[in-house]
Amino acid sequence: MPELPEVEIYARYFQRHALGQRIARVRVLDERILGATRKATFIRRLTGEQFTTVRRHGKHLFAQAGERNWLHLHFGMTGDLAYYCDPAEDPRFARVVFDFDGGGHLAFEDMRLFGIVDLTSDPDDYIREHAVGLDPLDPALRLRLFRRLMEKRRGAIKPLLMSQQVVAGIGNLYADETLFRASIHPLRPVDRMTPDEMKAVYTNMRRVLNEMVALKAGEGDYPARMLVQHREEGDVCPRCGGEIRRTIVGGRTTYFCSRHQR
Ligand SMILES: [Zn+2]
Repeated sequence: MPELPEVEIYARYFQRHALGQRIARVRVLDERILGATRKATFIRRLTGEQFTTVRRHGKHLFAQAGERNWLHLHFGMTGDLAYYCDPAEDPRFARVVFDFDGGGHLAFEDMRLFGIVDLTSDPDDYIREHAVGLDPLDPALRLRLFRRLMEKRRGAIKPLLMSQQVVAGIGNLYADETLFRASIHPLRPVDRMTPDEMKAVYTNMRRVLNEMVALKAGEGDYPARMLVQHREEGDVCPRCGGEIRRTIVGGRTTYFCSRHQR
């Protein structure tokens, strides 16, 4: 399931392949993927335009195509982008395809249809109206601000990291990874965390996301020291030798070390 690092890679892919290209034709192959915008409007507002800017916020990707006209992509569970030159290569689950003047094609594919393809007049308006939290890699999100946002909240740390309301972009996998590195139990109430523990969550959240962006930009596999390589009940913690346990937190399958995460 795409989280911030995966969407960052999609944003770079979009930028590399689709930026500066004029859209000759828009094909909506399955309109169930469209959000609030109707098919005819979607096609009319993008045909003849040119993608000029790509912006990512959390798990959202925005691409500008004209004044107050932005394409908005959310990748849901199985969303992906594909760029190719032969239209016979339309991916099996392509839902929307942009045919460019230069002969290239960019498809948004999504097998399970939990993703969204939509238009918005302004990404900042969208973020505000939908109360999407700050991007965890935004330099404006300093430790002090992170603490202040967390202090207003109640409940367990893991669902808060995943809520998209305090910070946006963290899903199940990297929430577990962040807490594993910060040595914090996923069910620990935020109002019972010390300032140092909150700092450890903040620091490791950014470290995990930055490392994952770098990893995904290359060809590397997850290192063995990461929890992601040990997501199995009874596995051995690569950090302390403790036992990895599985539980459900906020409806999501959660793995943690029963020894060093407190
Ligand atoms: Zn451990």
